Amino acid sequence: MRDAIKQMSKYVPGFQPPDGEQWIKLNTNENPYPPSPQVAEAIRQELGDGGSLRKYPDPPSQSAREAAADLYGYDPDWIIMANGSDELLNNLIRTFVGEGEELAYLNPSYSYYATLAAIQGAKVKTFTLTEEGEIADFPERYRGKLFFLTSPNAPLGISFDNDRIAELAGRCDGVLVVDEAYADFAEINALDLVGQHDNVIVTRTFSKSYGLAGMRLGLAIARPEVVDALDKIRDHYNIDRLAQVAAVAALKDQDYLQDTVQKICATRQWFAGELETLGYALLPSQANYVFAIPPDRNGKRVYDALFERKILVRFFSDPALAHGLRISIGTREEMETSVAALKEIG
Ligand SMILES: *Cc1c(COP(=O)(O)O)cnc(C)c1O
Repeated sequence: MRDAIKQMSKYVPGFQPPDGEQWIKLNTNENPYPPSPQVAEAIRQELGDGGSLRKYPDPPSQSAREAAADLYGYDPDWIIMANGSDELLNNLIRTFVGEGEELAYLNPSYSYYATLAAIQGAKVKTFTLTEEGEIADFPERYRGKLFFLTSPNAPLGISFDNDRIAELAGRCDGVLVVDEAYADFAEINALDLVGQHDNVIVTRTFSKSYGLAGMRLGLAIARPEVVDALDKIRDHYNIDRLAQVAAVAALKDQDYLQDTVQKICATRQWFAGELETLGYALLPSQANYVFAIPPDRNGKRVYDALFERKILVRFFSDPALAHGLRISIGTREEMETSVAALKEIG
């Protein structure tokens, strides 16, 4: 066994209570609404009596690439489909960062980057992100091979504008990967930068805005030479037949996406106002969650009290985050129940 694997610790995903248990689940930023009805219809059609599953899926997921290309205004050879955007994060590291070489990300941001770096035996550098959105110690030139910029940031919810991202890209010797898992909820995104800067790559997921976390779908927008490289190292049948038709149907139903996103953003705004009335401090969120700081700055206390009431939110024991909680935005009804619970908890 490689030393890197022996020594690394395992990534712990947000707690998933067994299906059927009555929890209000606001801990993994899933969508409270189902995917577009077109998705279930496409899956039923593809499945038929099950016979289509005898055959392997289309290796490049070409129909999905074309649907994404249409939507984002890039040619299909600038798009690669993935089995969740986590697969892309992994393959981007394998493409750009050799064993012993360095990658970077912000602290706080998505903790899975650390796990993926450990698997590769890559070195990790973190730059501190303040609650005001400043990157405290980013060097004049960053010489590492890859820099993950999560925008909107998870778990803080704040996002970076394109001038800022372009400036950071100009200071990177390696690639800048903008992890846009939540960009559909934001007012801005970095899609245009992919065409303008030769070292910018954008990743997206279907897990949050499209309500398809259970399907495992993601994609990247990148230069064709990067797409070709990622294409070499992915599992050649990475997207199964049902997921491929689901991706096409989801991407084509933009009316449904916009409708869902609008509902969630409206609920977010209402919920943020209620929390502020309760004395909480909130960071301005561009995502489907808020980072909420209780008056006594004791995230664990509130987490435990909500847990007792079968409301699951995300608490991070990291000292930089333990003063608050990340709360996903559910339905209006779920958030009303949560506000009532928080009033009781005090
Ligand atoms: C949820 C999330 C992902 C993973 O998305 P999948 O497509 O479900 O693998 C990646 N990055 C960030 C920041 C996320 O929050």
